[in-house]
Amino acid sequence: MKILKLRRSEDRRIRAGHLWVFSNEVDTAHTPLTAFEPGEEAAVTDARGAFLGSACVNPHSLICARVYSREKRPLDADLLRERLTDALSLRERLFDSPYFRLAFGEGDFLPGLVVDRYGSHLACQVTTLAMERRRDLVRGILDELVHPASVLWDDTAGSRVLEGLETGGRVFEGPVPEELEVLENGCVYLVPGREGQKTGWFYDQRDNHRLTASLCRGRDVLDAFSYAGGFGVAAARAGASSVVYLDASAKALSFAERNHRANSGGGCETVCGDAFDALKELRDAGRTFDVVSIDPPAFIKRRRDYKEGLNAYRRLNYLGMQLVRDGGLLVTSSCSQLLSADDLRGCVSQASARLGALPRLLAAGRQGPDHPVHCAMPETAYLKCLIVQCARQARPHNRPGRDDTQQGQQQ
Ligand code: SAH
Repeated sequence: MKILKLRRSEDRRIRAGHLWVFSNEVDTAHTPLTAFEPGEEAAVTDARGAFLGSACVNPHSLICARVYSREKRPLDADLLRERLTDALSLRERLFDSPYFRLAFGEGDFLPGLVVDRYGSHLACQVTTLAMERRRDLVRGILDELVHPASVLWDDTAGSRVLEGLETGGRVFEGPVPEELEVLENGCVYLVPGREGQKTGWFYDQRDNHRLTASLCRGRDVLDAFSYAGGFGVAAARAGASSVVYLDASAKALSFAERNHRANSGGGCETVCGDAFDALKELRDAGRTFDVVSIDPPAFIKRRRDYKEGLNAYRRLNYLGMQLVRDGGLLVTSSCSQLLSADDLRGCVSQASARLGALPRLLAAGRQGPDHPVHCAMPETAYLKCLIVQCARQARPHNRPGRDDTQQGQQQ
């Protein structure tokens, strides 16, 4: 293997366990990136030549090398088999049935590879050039390990562009079904297969679906950004009195409706539209709920989106909280890695201050264990889900009303 040498003092993060080398950290005078074939393995060393790890190089990407092993070895079928076997056995330990994210990129020491399992069907995403070059190897090992009936490759991820890969469509190998079945928390969901979103299901919310559902018995629930009904269907099965599903996708809502009926036996209401408008319309119509879940797509994908994205989270949480009845729950999620849990809590407290609500954080959830966080890589921890009880006791500070004194006396 060729050597990729880091500049002085640029080895600290890698030594601490991080897996990414940025192009400005490389001693390009001694080891020019152009000397590497895209996707080729390299032995990463510090400035003195001490070995740090084996990495795949992409000379044209800002993240120019990704460490895949602390040993000196190629990223070949043996290593991929070890990693995927390990990833699978972890999931088999965590779950009773074969419905889970089987591989989660860096979290499973498999940079650039995501695999979701739906029983005998797999949906995969490849987001690095090195993994793209090894796609056939990966496919062969998945065949050995799980004998999939079909494999869907979702090549639509925007992150592929950063690696110089094309963002194509979807590639189907074998009989990829129109609808995939998901078993989760005792519910059976059908989700779009060939034309779903991303890899088809959001397994990362499994634990948050369960905890939220456990708080919904006898309650009226709004599942905003519902997709196929992750939160609402679990709530209905747990005995919610009513569920309203809201999504911009009519197709997602048709799945939510079917899933609702199949799991609860009853009917539900759906609202199709942009959540920012639809939540206002619900408010203007005087609708309120005991539980409001807000689970939007990532608004902050790049650093430069931060301000605008934060603003969107603020507006949404404000709109959502307006629909929560006194003492009810706001279940607010964010899958933007760049938005911290503190930021999200800030959105909630700001909304509470505007509405004169007293917010109590009951639980702070995260991505489920089939999306393991690499402890040295904050980039692998992305999902936040806060369950907040909203009591309307205080008066809004910024909007003093005529009956302020009266209220004060009552308190
Ligand atoms: N809550 C779901 C996952 C949500 S994924 C679960 O637990 O499984 C995000 C969803 O938001 C997608 O279904 C997408 O169609 C929807 N969406 C994206 N932008 C939207 C918008 N502006 N208004 C309403 N829905 C939107």
